[in-house]
Amino acid sequence: MFSGYAFTVEERFIRYVKIDTTSDPHSETFPSTEKQKDLGRLLVAELKALGLSDAYMDDNGYVYATVRSNTEKKVPVVCFCAHVDTSSDSSGTNVKPIVHRNFDGSPIVLPDDPSQVIRVEDHPYLKDKIGEDIITASGTTLLGADDKAGVAVIMDMANYLVTHPEIKHGDIRILFTPDEEIGRGVDKLDMKTLAADFGYTLDGSERGSFEDESFSADGASVVFHGISAHPGYAKSKLVNAIKIAAEFVTSLPRDRFSPETTADREGFVHPVHIEGTAEMAKVDFIVRDFKTEKLKDHVSVLDQLASKAIASYPGARYEIKQREQYRNMKEVLDKHPQVAVFAEEAIRRAGMEVRKFPIRGGTDGSRLSFMGLPCPNIFTGEMAFHSKHEYVSVQDMQKAVETIVHLAMIWAE
Ligand SMILES: [Zn+2]
Repeated sequence: MFSGYAFTVEERFIRYVKIDTTSDPHSETFPSTEKQKDLGRLLVAELKALGLSDAYMDDNGYVYATVRSNTEKKVPVVCFCAHVDTSSDSSGTNVKPIVHRNFDGSPIVLPDDPSQVIRVEDHPYLKDKIGEDIITASGTTLLGADDKAGVAVIMDMANYLVTHPEIKHGDIRILFTPDEEIGRGVDKLDMKTLAADFGYTLDGSERGSFEDESFSADGASVVFHGISAHPGYAKSKLVNAIKIAAEFVTSLPRDRFSPETTADREGFVHPVHIEGTAEMAKVDFIVRDFKTEKLKDHVSVLDQLASKAIASYPGARYEIKQREQYRNMKEVLDKHPQVAVFAEEAIRRAGMEVRKFPIRGGTDGSRLSFMGLPCPNIFTGEMAFHSKHEYVSVQDMQKAVETIVHLAMIWAE
């Protein structure tokens, strides 16, 4: 099916990563940075050039388009989704992509900062990439394969479908979102405009990988109230909330229950922010587990530790609040087993073995799943994301294109 096809994913990818789309967690606007729309505008123009006449970007920076159904059959509307923004963890300005053809396994020295070296020892997945074409940045920026690999893969799928009318499929919706990296990617998404039944994010990494399980996530805040007094006349009066909060944080387990001591399917609590005065101090946590019901057990551990921390401070008190952030997409996907079954079949038809990992985090798909669009995550080849060592294999991106073309067909079968 693809032997004579001239993939466009590489040239598209090279074009997209040069456009700065860093999102900004401190911004109050939506999208958080206007420049994300620069890529949105280019994508709309390219989609229109492909003949997708309904392609458009709304004021919030969402890009929508449809590859129209070419079958008489009634087929569910399937959406492929990727995010245009890149993480602010590393600069995304003036990205200079470099293609390392026929990678031979030797260290890749990034020319604009030769201290940045991508080595097989540090990136074991690169061992499988010998002979492939690896794209990196030049040493001073991230690459932006997260998630412009996904964007380019979806664009190439559209290109394939419009140039191969013999491939039968239902309506395929394309969605590009801003601000995924700051957790707001679907905040202003209009599900009515999207009008899709099932979705897939293209934001996974290793070839053949498929993710239909994510963390369930809550936030928790512990607020300690002390008793303030003029420090010159505070004897036997002052109860310092900062000291209680410090004791509380120190009492968290050191050998388990934290991001730095857990892996695979273990959950954790993680203090992410602390602020305070003698009168009041607050510690914010993120709480994570694959089992939603365990989140409240984790918060009750925080409750016990907080209660222990105030015990030796007469007059002090605390309160604890828990709030929902997102939920394990598996809870929704289990009700629509065909979404995962078809994706796994598509990966196999594209000649790969399926590799399933639980996501130790959330994706836009976690939230979309609970907004009514069951939405697992498919690989794109993006690796070492959010860093200057970020890389992607051209052949992995091509395999992702093949996978979602197959997937579009499978839904129409
Ligand atoms: Zn991403």
